[in-house]
Amino acid sequence: MKKVVKFGGSSLASAAQFKKAGHIIRQDESRRYVVPSAPGKRHPQDTKVTDMLYSCYLLALREEDEEEQFEKIILDIKARYDEIIRGLDLTLDLTEEFQVIRENFSRKIGRDYAASRGEYLNGIVMAEYLGYTFIDAADVIFFQESGAFDAEKTNQVLAERLADCERAVIPGFYGSLPDGRIKTFSRGGSDITGSIVAKAVHADMYENWTDVSGFLVADPRVVKNPKAIDVITYRELRELSYMGASVLHEDAIFPVRKEGIPINIRNTNCPEDKGTLIVEDTCRTPRFTITGIAGKRDFASITVEKAMMNSEVGFCHKVLGVFADNDISIEHMPSGIDTMTIFVHQDEFEEKEQEVIAGIHRAVEPDFVELESDLALIAVVGRGMKATRGTSGRIFSALAHANVNVKMIDQGSSELNIIIGVRNHDFEAAIRAIYDIFVTTQI
Ligand code: ASP
Repeated sequence: MKKVVKFGGSSLASAAQFKKAGHIIRQDESRRYVVPSAPGKRHPQDTKVTDMLYSCYLLALREEDEEEQFEKIILDIKARYDEIIRGLDLTLDLTEEFQVIRENFSRKIGRDYAASRGEYLNGIVMAEYLGYTFIDAADVIFFQESGAFDAEKTNQVLAERLADCERAVIPGFYGSLPDGRIKTFSRGGSDITGSIVAKAVHADMYENWTDVSGFLVADPRVVKNPKAIDVITYRELRELSYMGASVLHEDAIFPVRKEGIPINIRNTNCPEDKGTLIVEDTCRTPRFTITGIAGKRDFASITVEKAMMNSEVGFCHKVLGVFADNDISIEHMPSGIDTMTIFVHQDEFEEKEQEVIAGIHRAVEPDFVELESDLALIAVVGRGMKATRGTSGRIFSALAHANVNVKMIDQGSSELNIIIGVRNHDFEAAIRAIYDIFVTTQI
């Protein structure tokens, strides 16, 4: 059995958190490959080491006058690591590493290099603490010249390197470009590194340790004490993440998904919780008809009406062309016989609304174009919906009881999700009503 374990920033923010992570790793022999993030926040007002590094690099770019301030942040960052090292009773000394970092910063080596040092140094500390081999991610994770991740080369080199390494620590978040410069993934990218390592070693499980016990059926800021999701499929997760449920980096599922390796989201502070298991598919009947609810506010809708629109070949194509020409991406597009409605992000659309209206008039000569703003979209997601009759009926009667006016319904043909459009001010009431009908009343 082989497991890859990734620990997030809050799981490694202090010596006490490091000890919890160490205990978890030592408890299970199969936890052989460890991917750490940089130290995160110790309390809500704290600053993540990655953010300290970004600010520090900005000062390095601004030259002489900022030298004092620059040195202060570097020392603050070093103090964060020294505190962890002392708390773990290690004899490690990072003075030389910090000297190299200072020199590279003053050579203006790049923002990505700066940010990556958080993971790099934490990897060194973690390897020393566990007695595992340290492998610099720059030697095994590769990007192409264009900046895109080089999956093929990475998999080949990483698999070879780890084949003769029983236990290793590989820092998350970064790798190297063909010319050797450091490049990072987007924020939260250590989740992706964990997934890449799991694929390379053909792991049985990718454990992602964070500060929550997995995904919740709904956002806890909207629904009080929502239930946890025990098992979710990659496809369900993709729908929910797209609509705002954020525990795992959106791109982290891709490497393991190809190999059918499950991901287990676990809580470093409550290791006895089972967390959420993310899988390709499962025969296990879901606890509730729906797996999760997520949503986003601030959409606008553009309704185009024209009698006999359905018999005009290429009508939709021409309308969509107007959006493409204005560089506006489309979220949803429910249509009727003589109307089609297009949902877009309000902030992207607002500046260009008049150009779009004029463009549609030129393209298809509609009877009229109508705009509506301040709309929210809610995704109700669940593999269980396919096998259950009356799911949409229950959703809409719950919304009617909660006095929520439904502006739009869009059910994907996979029957995996139903998207509902409501007014921004009904957003929370709608989510609560849907949660209650499928979860609260079923417990
Ligand atoms: N440390 C990086 C960040 O704060 C990457 C990560 O934690 O995954 O975004």
